[in-house]
Amino acid sequence: MNTQDMFPGFEPQPEVVAFTPTRQAGLARLEKFVSRAGRHYARRRNYDLGSMQRGNVSALSPWIRHRLITEQEVLNSTCSHHSMLAAEKFVQEVFWRTYFKGWLEQHPSVWVAYQDGLARALDADARSSDYQDAMAGRTGIACFDHWVQELVQSGYLHNHVRMWFASIWIFTLRLPWQLGADFFLRHLIDGDPASNTLSWRWVGGLHTKGKTYLARPDNIAKYTDGRFHPVGQLATVAEPLMEQVAHPLVQLPATDPTPKEECLLFITEEDCQVETLLPHTPMARLGLLAKQSLGVSAIAQNFSKSAVEATSGTLIDVTTPWRDQIIEAAMAAGTNTVVTGYAPVGPVADQLAALNLPEAGITLHHIRRDYDTLAWPHATKGFFGLKKKIPHILRELGFAV
Ligand SMILES: Cc1cc2nc3c(=O)[nH]c(=O)nc-3n(C[C@H](O)[C@H](O)[C@H](O)COP(=O)(O)OP(=O)(O)OC[C@H]3O[C@@H](n4cnc5c(N)ncnc54)[C@H](O)[C@@H]3O)c2cc1C
Repeated sequence: MNTQDMFPGFEPQPEVVAFTPTRQAGLARLEKFVSRAGRHYARRRNYDLGSMQRGNVSALSPWIRHRLITEQEVLNSTCSHHSMLAAEKFVQEVFWRTYFKGWLEQHPSVWVAYQDGLARALDADARSSDYQDAMAGRTGIACFDHWVQELVQSGYLHNHVRMWFASIWIFTLRLPWQLGADFFLRHLIDGDPASNTLSWRWVGGLHTKGKTYLARPDNIAKYTDGRFHPVGQLATVAEPLMEQVAHPLVQLPATDPTPKEECLLFITEEDCQVETLLPHTPMARLGLLAKQSLGVSAIAQNFSKSAVEATSGTLIDVTTPWRDQIIEAAMAAGTNTVVTGYAPVGPVADQLAALNLPEAGITLHHIRRDYDTLAWPHATKGFFGLKKKIPHILRELGFAV
């Protein structure tokens, strides 16, 4: 079967997405894609036709992840081009990100357990040849080896590929899921603690307890337009992974009010557009790239670095004690008020928590977007709980739905 059989009358046009880490590039990609965010997306989104043909998905995740463009902007543009019914699928996919962010925020022990599990797996398996072969794309499973190269070279994979990849990693190669999640996080330019960790857990049967995702050769052949067909090479059963620990639901932290006084703006990869929430221009800006702590690839690091640098002007030098750099910058600007975008569970939040600025007489305000504050409380169990609230959330945000 080829693309013509799948979509009669549809000739896929070459469409390569240049992942330029600027807001302008994100907005340009949104503008180019949005007319296809309706039924076109709903029918064709599951096909991975290769990195030269990205027209059936938005490929907006790197810009959304850094909030160079926001979920609300994407939804706004979508709803101004399509009816809610036509764009339902795309809108729901955007809310999958919101769901994972909100869910991890309310189950933070999952992030801690992932890091502990990763450290243990690295101790046990770092030198194993199966693990090294998987990361080098030397497994002999042609599709998997191809996707490894694609990930390493471009920093992006199609959603369906990510699902097949994680499934093959866990159930065919029988490698610890934490090592796969870490491999993704180090290479994806949209690498995100919530979407990544929880998606890997979802594939392995840890998120929706007992429900796993099995990659099947025929499904891969169909949705890659016959480019791959790994018959006889993949696991045929996917027994759910088990864990001993329970992850309790915790209350969402309260959000800080936006300060009225002038401030130093502290920009991180969690929200490069936080300045738009301030009542006036900040006195100075400073940026932080926390990702370095994860040992990420040059391509993933460069995207985040450029995004934060372009919006902050100056990056903190994390190789020297950087708490002092914030204090000095605040003093130089003549303020003891520092504002940053709310950092959800992940390395940025971990690093901010360790700062202890009040001791130096500085107040750090973490500003959370209304979008998150409205949506996250509904992300406590399965996606359905949030999905049914989507119209309500959009109306609260001023959408005419
Ligand atoms: C194992 C695995 C790991 C993943 N790791 C990440 C990650 O680190 N960062 C990340 O942003 N996404 C991750 N995803 C989710 C999803 O694969 C990507 O968001 C999507 O492929 C990005 O491509 P796109 O922008 O063309 O998506 P589109 O299909 O165009 O969707 C639009 C937007 O909705 C959001 N979205 C779409 N699908 C999902 C989904 N299943 N889960 C969460 N958000 C979604 C993204 O922000 C995306 O940009 C992962 C999925 C899997 C299965």
